[in-house]
Amino acid sequence: MNWIRRLVIGQYPSAFKNFQTRITIGVLLALLFSSACRPKRPPKSTPQMGAEGQFWVRVLLARDANSCFFNTCSPFLVKQGYLKTYLYGFGKPEAGTQITISKGTITIAGKPFSSERITIEPDEPCIFNLDGYDYRGMLELIVRPDGLGFDAVNLVPLEPYLAGVVGAEMPDYWEPEALKAQAIAARTYCMYIKKRFGAGRNWDVRKTAANQVYLGVAIESPLIWQIIDETWGEVLTCPKGREKLFPAYYSSVCGGHTEDRRNVFGGGDEADCNRAETLAGVRCPYCKDVVRPKFFFWPDVYIDKKTISQRLIQSYPSLKRLGEIVNIVVAEQSDYEQFSRLTQIRIVGSNGKSDSLRAEDFRLAIDPSGKSLKSTVFQLKDLGDTWAFLQGRGCGHGAGMCQCGAQAMARKGKTAKQILSYYYPGSKIVSLY
Ligand SMILES: [Zn+2]
Repeated sequence: MNWIRRLVIGQYPSAFKNFQTRITIGVLLALLFSSACRPKRPPKSTPQMGAEGQFWVRVLLARDANSCFFNTCSPFLVKQGYLKTYLYGFGKPEAGTQITISKGTITIAGKPFSSERITIEPDEPCIFNLDGYDYRGMLELIVRPDGLGFDAVNLVPLEPYLAGVVGAEMPDYWEPEALKAQAIAARTYCMYIKKRFGAGRNWDVRKTAANQVYLGVAIESPLIWQIIDETWGEVLTCPKGREKLFPAYYSSVCGGHTEDRRNVFGGGDEADCNRAETLAGVRCPYCKDVVRPKFFFWPDVYIDKKTISQRLIQSYPSLKRLGEIVNIVVAEQSDYEQFSRLTQIRIVGSNGKSDSLRAEDFRLAIDPSGKSLKSTVFQLKDLGDTWAFLQGRGCGHGAGMCQCGAQAMARKGKTAKQILSYYYPGSKIVSLY
């Protein structure tokens, strides 16, 4: 979703005309202040950490790690278990410390801890650095069942979490109403994923585009904090009085029409507004005004068939049962005025059997980074030894809010509420707290 940083053209509010200079300065400042122990001016000294009523979010920072580098600019406590009972207090570290694990025992600054779950709580201002990134809140380390690695999870209240997401998902020089729409969509998405999947695992969301990009303190700015404050606790819910959250997906550039979420991610469930209209696709005449044409229309891609077969089987080993993959057929697509988005792909094997994949899964199996196959809007052509992906347009899965479209609408004077009700038809904004 954070691709949009590379895609946009230079129509900025006058105050931000020198945005490239700002970006350069911003990057330099981020590098200068990237260590938690150097002096920094966080936009706010984390008063939000103590705000009542917030939900805590568990962000997976590292999975099955066997070491990580930890630093903080304050003394910190180590606690154990779900109840977080006190184990040990460290003074302010001189220059950070490596956290390691061996046979189920985690070692911090030379001191071993044998608990399966420990929490590191820095003192005010509650900022720590893990492997080069500053985060607010606490760090939880959970030993994997084999005792050879641990998961590192950032425990952070929802609003400070969002301060590390909004600027990562949308440039902070964009229109405030677009940023507000982004904040509300991101808050809704996070809470939905947390409620839907969090109970069954040790974390709620990943820090990557697999959920939504979270870069922590480095990406915060006073403006982003203002956006967070102005949308404090606001989420989208289903229409018709159903006080239910839904997965408020969003993507960079829809290409002219957003896609029904069910065609991208599957059928949904009862919690998803009983399959209400909030996730239906809508026409988007907006994003083309924000994105550079060379990104709105992406270059043709050619991949040899052998590579495609290998990548498909690597992602979906069950496809081996088809024998050799001999054909790839578009099974379903959504047709719009000027283009079609592929939604189902049929994989045909040499033994006559076939299997279906959602087109978005097919795309990410072939090009996990999405750098070449930027969307499922393309025409598939058989060139003998090679498959050609032609006339591609848009960037991302296309479901929910089109981020560049949101920016274009905001430029035309639309409010965050109008933007959100356009891309999530029938949704309502309510306050969590
Ligand atoms: Zn769009």
